[in-house]
Amino acid sequence: MNNKIELKGQCLCGEVKYKLSEKPLFTQACHCKDCKVLTGSSYVINSSILENTLTITDGELSATKKLIAGSGKFITIFFCKNCGAYIYTDYESAIGRLNVRTQTLENSKTYPPQAHIFTKDKDEWVNLSNINNCFEKMYDPKETWPNESLIRIKEYLNTKK
Ligand SMILES: [Zn+2]
Ligand SMILES: [Zn+2]
Repeated sequence: MNNKIELKGQCLCGEVKYKLSEKPLFTQACHCKDCKVLTGSSYVINSSILENTLTITDGELSATKKLIAGSGKFITIFFCKNCGAYIYTDYESAIGRLNVRTQTLENSKTYPPQAHIFTKDKDEWVNLSNINNCFEKMYDPKETWPNESLIRIKEYLNTKK
């Protein structure tokens, strides 16, 4: 199994550019109210990655203060200083991982959402009736994520011990 790959992404104005050295672990759409306010849209799409696979190659990021997520844990969002596009989020609850905004990836179409979460807050004009893996709130990653991704996280966390 080869996860090594070079994926590129950037912000809207192009000042911030980044690379991922491995493919994402999992991509999901979140329909919670917080994500709606943060994106100004009906849902956000995030790709979970191992923290050591992200390199900012150009430009400078700003960070929000620590915000409180729905889980009650902190999140910090990193965005382009110039255009304000959100590049990635650090969820305190996701140890060893970061969440890049999937749409900032050059080939974001390769990574469609593998799950939709917090569909209890979904806007009524968003139709998910043909989509599998919809969850009223959250799911258990052990049951929803591909096994290979679970193994990659475990192996990575082992290297940090
Ligand atoms: Zn920018
Ligand atoms: Zn959300």
